[in-house]
Amino acid sequence: MTTKSLPRIDGPLHTHLYIDGIWRSGESRRRLPIINPSTEETIAEIEAGSATDVDTAVRAAAQAFRSWKKTTGAERAALLRAIARGVEAQRSDLATLQSRNNGKPLAEAQIDVCDVVATFDYYAGLAEQLDETGESTVALPCDDYRAVIRREPAGVVGLIVPWNFPMVTTAWKLAPALAAGCTVVLKPSEVTPLPELALAAIAAEAGVPCGVLNVVTGTGVDVGAPLVAHPLVSKVSFTGSTGIGEQVMKTAATTIKGVSLELGGKSSIVVFADADLDLAVELVASGGFFNAGQMCSATSRVLVERPIAEALIARLAERVTQLVVGDPFMPGVQMGPLTNRAQYERVQRYIAQGKADGARKVIEGTVPAGRGHFVKPTIFVDVRADSAVWREEIFGPVLCLRAFDTEDEAVGIANDTEYGLVATVVTGDTARQKRVADALEAGVVWVNAPQVIFPQTAWGGYKRSSIGRELGPFGLAAFQEIKQVLTAAGTA
Ligand code: NAD
Repeated sequence: MTTKSLPRIDGPLHTHLYIDGIWRSGESRRRLPIINPSTEETIAEIEAGSATDVDTAVRAAAQAFRSWKKTTGAERAALLRAIARGVEAQRSDLATLQSRNNGKPLAEAQIDVCDVVATFDYYAGLAEQLDETGESTVALPCDDYRAVIRREPAGVVGLIVPWNFPMVTTAWKLAPALAAGCTVVLKPSEVTPLPELALAAIAAEAGVPCGVLNVVTGTGVDVGAPLVAHPLVSKVSFTGSTGIGEQVMKTAATTIKGVSLELGGKSSIVVFADADLDLAVELVASGGFFNAGQMCSATSRVLVERPIAEALIARLAERVTQLVVGDPFMPGVQMGPLTNRAQYERVQRYIAQGKADGARKVIEGTVPAGRGHFVKPTIFVDVRADSAVWREEIFGPVLCLRAFDTEDEAVGIANDTEYGLVATVVTGDTARQKRVADALEAGVVWVNAPQVIFPQTAWGGYKRSSIGRELGPFGLAAFQEIKQVLTAAGTA
């Protein structure tokens, strides 16, 4: 197949592997179709990378590491800022590409692009600080020795990302990895590689040296697994499903390499009777239907204090039935399709299961007729606690709602999951805000706030949701080794 007959998409389109500064075909000569989830049309074909391509990319990254690790923080900061400016300059094309490939409404794609810019700018600042803070003296209990602690780049790192926030999950890894002085082999999702390939082109234009950033597209089996297993890769940072995260950890164990994992979630929004009801409706809807619910942080369990339960259900029913689902480029559209066919089918199975499990009430929205992976926004009221829809991550626009009577009961239900990524609390009582935030087993707690994420903070969760934290100084530390240098006094 050739890309010539495919419909044009805005801006230059990159579909080749990017290795050692060169756009090249994969060794297998096979290509994979990229589908627009709103129309189900093929919009591009990308290289199906292989273990051989991974090896070429890792070796290029290892070679580049020799000089990249010697650059100053200020030099790396200048490149990170140049990437941020490059993304800004292509803001509109990148948002369009994100919407075409992933299906999210254009307004949401624009938020993603802003997030990428903010992340590169933030880590440029931390890279600069490394020139001052990268080496620090340690106070010792005697004068016979002098000890310094150095923060050094981990080496060649493998970055593996999913399809729900392409570019954003990548920026959260790529910016700190480059800031730390690591070189990178990036494996985007085979479902949404186009925004990542565009980002690589921006990095190349910004002057990132050959071999410092390499992108190998393809499947998890053909590209992801060999990347994790490669002996020259020092560290793997993975975002994706918990099941694949487990496999990544096992494979990484065979070469004793470090892993950072950002995995699934089954998070709660807890609405107390003293909450502002308008705000609660807003936060429940955005926590469940933003990005068509394809968020690791989706607050897919809605816990509401009994006295306001019926009022909240009525308001949510109104909201869901009015939610405009459709093509992300149509004005007024609030929710797009699911990003790929497999996910669409998976979510439909969960909805059928929820119905079979006998919820007291099922609230459903509407979807446009015709092609596209559109799923009705759905709320199950009072579904059984042992139902799969209540216990498992659905990763679609499906919420389950239950009423509670006491604060302790609400916290107990929210914590009764194998995951611990995020939680939202909606209450006007300041003492309760603190109590509940303290009691929730989650890496992020939003109090009366939407799911805003600042690169300065931290991202990750408890239990089976994560290992390590992204963003903030933690995100940088994930790509650093610590070295102690102890020198006998009077010999230096
Ligand atoms: P996935 O686990 O199927 O795939 C993620 C990435 O891993 C893809 O690039 C895939 O090709 C690759 N992969 C697949 N098999 C592999 C293997 N054996 N070795 C190495 N790499 C392999 O996940 P997905 O369906 O793309 O994304 C959805 C999942 O991601 C959800 O579970 C969601 O909760 C999670 N997620 C988590 C966060 C977070 O920050 N915690 C953020 C976004 C998504």
